[in-house]
Amino acid sequence: MSLVELTIDGKKTYAEGGTSVLEAARQIGIEIPALCYHCDLPPNAACRLCLVEVEGQRVLQASCTLQVADGMIVHTDTPKVQRVRKLMLELILSEHPNDCMTCDQAGACKLQELAYQLGVKESRFSGQTQRYQHWVTDDNPFIVRDYDKCIACWRCTAACAEVQGRLAIGKGYRGFEAHPVAGLDVPYGESICEFCGQCVAYCPTGALMERSAVGAGRQWEMTKVTTTCPYCGVGCNFDLNVKDGRIVKVTSHPEAVVNGMALCVKGRFGWDFVHHPDRLTHPLIRQGDDFVEASWDEALDLVARRLGEIRDESGGDAIAVLASAKCTNEENYVLQKFTRAVLGTNNIDHCARL
Ligand code: SF4
Ligand code: SF4
Ligand code: SF4
Repeated sequence: MSLVELTIDGKKTYAEGGTSVLEAARQIGIEIPALCYHCDLPPNAACRLCLVEVEGQRVLQASCTLQVADGMIVHTDTPKVQRVRKLMLELILSEHPNDCMTCDQAGACKLQELAYQLGVKESRFSGQTQRYQHWVTDDNPFIVRDYDKCIACWRCTAACAEVQGRLAIGKGYRGFEAHPVAGLDVPYGESICEFCGQCVAYCPTGALMERSAVGAGRQWEMTKVTTTCPYCGVGCNFDLNVKDGRIVKVTSHPEAVVNGMALCVKGRFGWDFVHHPDRLTHPLIRQGDDFVEASWDEALDLVARRLGEIRDESGGDAIAVLASAKCTNEENYVLQKFTRAVLGTNNIDHCARL
């Protein structure tokens, strides 16, 4: 694709034809504020915060949907842009509960962050505020919907359609009543939602949240620990949000090489086993009808001795080994090496092949 030359805030730059002005600005380190825009999702110019001034054009333009053009001169931070941007934010806040003091999303909320950045404390416009109370009716175990905090940015519906390919949620109703709906406006659990949580990951406000995080602590009390999902061999990365040594929620790690922001239901919500009281934390050795707690050294010594005895008495082919997709490639390699070279058998298979 051909390069076009344009000027943004006095900086001459080049961008591929078809690039949005917002992306071209980001490429040279100029951040244009936006709530509905995310680089993984199609732009839809819903929040109108990314407005910029383009020389020769009478009205401000939404930079997320405006494509670069040769010779274009763009200003992203003029007094006019700042004035209108604040106005747009005030309009969004005019129908928002502004519950930051008790909202579990505070500290991780894009709306709160932009209000702070732009110095918008309150809205001059008052009127009806929404009271949907979906959180009362939606008793699924994973996701809380509080559409009073929805800003109709449609990142959730785009994420469900474009990232997950599920189309479980869509735009419902019109005008002031517009908000996302699952199916024909039913609880998530009664729709085709598969609880991947992509909608939660892309929601810029507290309208969609992990149920486990409600009332579990403020964002700034949590430490993010980036780790690899233990469930399958894909090896998705995500962040554990940990408070006082306990996991509060899993959030996407935006720079995850394998999976980006995407996770499946197991990776995002299936971590409660970590703190489960029935979880095995020590090896158990059978003694008669009982299992007795043992140290790792005792357990490994026993397994090594018994495998050696079986091999010596009956030959290596009396043993079979099943590897797991939950292990890394390196662990599986070592296991097959051990099976062939130490146990003396080719009886090794892998669960993912079955
Ligand atoms: S969603 Fe964001 S702006 Fe709204 S109450 Fe919660 S933290 Fe505040
Ligand atoms: S959890 Fe996944 S499938 Fe369900 S609505 Fe959200 S994005 Fe769509
Ligand atoms: S629920 Fe969140 S992502 Fe969806 S439209 Fe509302 S604010 Fe945007």
